[in-house]
Amino acid sequence: MRSEGSADEVGDTPGSPGASAHEALMQFLYLAPIGLVQAAPDGSVSLINPMAAQLLMPLSPLGDLGNLFDALQGVAPQLRALVDGTTADGIVVEDLRIALPPGPGTPQMLALNLMRLDSATLMASLADVSNTVERERRMVEQLHDATHTDGLTALPNRRAALERIAGGLARCRSEPGQRLGVLLVNVDRFEAVNVSQGHAVGDSLLRSMADRLTGLVRSGDAVTFGAARLGGDEFVVVLDRLREPDHVAVVAQRVVDALARPYAVGGQPLHVGASVGAVLCDGGEGSAADVLDHAALAMREAKRGGGGRWVMFEPDMKHRAARRGTLERELREAITQRQLFVVYQPILALDGGRCHAVEALVRWRHPERGIVPPLDFIPVAEECGLIGALGLFVLGEACAQLARWQSTLGAAAPALMSVNLSRAQLGSDLVLDQVRQVLADNGLDAGALELEITETLAAQDEQVQRRLHALRALGVTLALDDFGTGYSSLACLHQLPVGVLKIDRSFVSRLESSAHHRVLVEATVRVARSLGMDTVAEGIETPGQADELSRLGCANGQGYLYARPMPADEATRWLSARAAVAAPVTA
Ligand code: C2E
Ligand code: MG
Ligand code: MG
Repeated sequence: MRSEGSADEVGDTPGSPGASAHEALMQFLYLAPIGLVQAAPDGSVSLINPMAAQLLMPLSPLGDLGNLFDALQGVAPQLRALVDGTTADGIVVEDLRIALPPGPGTPQMLALNLMRLDSATLMASLADVSNTVERERRMVEQLHDATHTDGLTALPNRRAALERIAGGLARCRSEPGQRLGVLLVNVDRFEAVNVSQGHAVGDSLLRSMADRLTGLVRSGDAVTFGAARLGGDEFVVVLDRLREPDHVAVVAQRVVDALARPYAVGGQPLHVGASVGAVLCDGGEGSAADVLDHAALAMREAKRGGGGRWVMFEPDMKHRAARRGTLERELREAITQRQLFVVYQPILALDGGRCHAVEALVRWRHPERGIVPPLDFIPVAEECGLIGALGLFVLGEACAQLARWQSTLGAAAPALMSVNLSRAQLGSDLVLDQVRQVLADNGLDAGALELEITETLAAQDEQVQRRLHALRALGVTLALDDFGTGYSSLACLHQLPVGVLKIDRSFVSRLESSAHHRVLVEATVRVARSLGMDTVAEGIETPGQADELSRLGCANGQGYLYARPMPADEATRWLSARAAVAAPVTA
């Protein structure tokens, strides 16, 4: 231990009884792996051990360690004032972290403790905490990673995505011309995969999707990509520093295409797609959360369009979403306050026979807006989960009405009630029990009920197919509604468990003017007949259309030419009148 004063200050002389203790103490201080300095309140050093000298030396290029405050002036200039301001004995500075100028082999960080022992003496300890600081930094980094990483896919998580979007927005604001693209990706029908194949398969699917997204990201071109998982079946792709705004569309389509390829999870190829909502930001969009909200609105539009596609956000979507919100609230009330009712449109044999069936069509008597057509509220009901209640109401009303007609009209009553079934209703097995129950409640045979489904619905996943077969096994007739507007072709018809084909109004209305449509209708009727299916032409408005349809072999039709959809009492009168004039039904 080097003393800046005389050796006598330290105590016993060599050879005295305390000498060995003194030497041991000196040895201890000499070897201590911590820097120790004794100084006067003005900083002048009286004792300093080698470790302290080693730690302080890089701070004093001239090698002068005579004053502690002078030595530390460049990195901790506040020390002198701190000591001057302290009169009480005790700790003056505790664990002060001092960053040192970088140099080869020198510590990066010192920890300083300074204590006033008495009015004349300060004691300082100095330690090299570079390793500790580095360890702390790494821990903070790991902690950051853990809080910013999605456990299932190892992609960055929602928090990381929000930070990245916020960073991108800030850049857009500070650097004019910068653009940020955000794609919100939501898996189509993920719930169905989870339910039918189990959560393990669902998890594998999400991991595969994450891999595909990162694959896309790596092959990125002029933009900086980043994929993250927001949670559940939702991902986000951030396109930073977009030079070409058109890139958003290009990448959005690439995401849709990449995710639509079959997946090898769960033993057999799995087909699922994704809906993507895209937002192009220039910095004026508010917060990162706002951007994700906008992307979510666009994504829902993509879902409404049938999924497996991308849609660009437009400001009007916000208003439409608000209107839908209102509609949803009102529709809930409509169901409880019995504002919904059912109208009936006859379906009859085109050769002038009796009306053998009626189609039940729902209406909403809105307290302010009057009668609202179904296409204005069925999609909302499907989206917000009200379709189950709505569908059950229509089914119950329609079957009850058929039972009433059968008991009051006798032979004039239609043999068949046709009820539209929505996509969401076939999403669960509940529909089977409901149909069975409603038939039983009204004392009807299953043969008296026809359920209309749309083409896209019929072509859907296995569960839907299974339910359709179960309904058919009950004895219910299935009709393919709006045929010609969806995806199924004539070639696939034989795979569907349907007994009736309803040719869409768009074909009927062009029958007289378009040879193309005439040929299509004729082919449809032929194929249907060869498969043992009945045909019904929808939306017949003119006698010419009816004649042409008869000539092409279509057996049945419905349309304004015969009758518009009517409330029950009006339909009752119509049925009685029709039975009186119609030709008798031939078997
Ligand atoms: P859809 O099942 O194809 O029903 C036929 C639609 O065509 C009905 O419209 C009907 O009023 C209309 N229509 C019938 N004949 C003619 C005609 O000669 N000319 C014209 N221009 N239109 C005609 P509506 O009642 O507005 O129903 C529209 C769609 O809403 C239905 O199409 C069906 O898909 C759906 N829908 C109606 N009621 C229900 C329901 O209770 N449940 C479900 N899930 N969907 C329903
Ligand atoms: Mg229909
Ligand atoms: Mg239709």
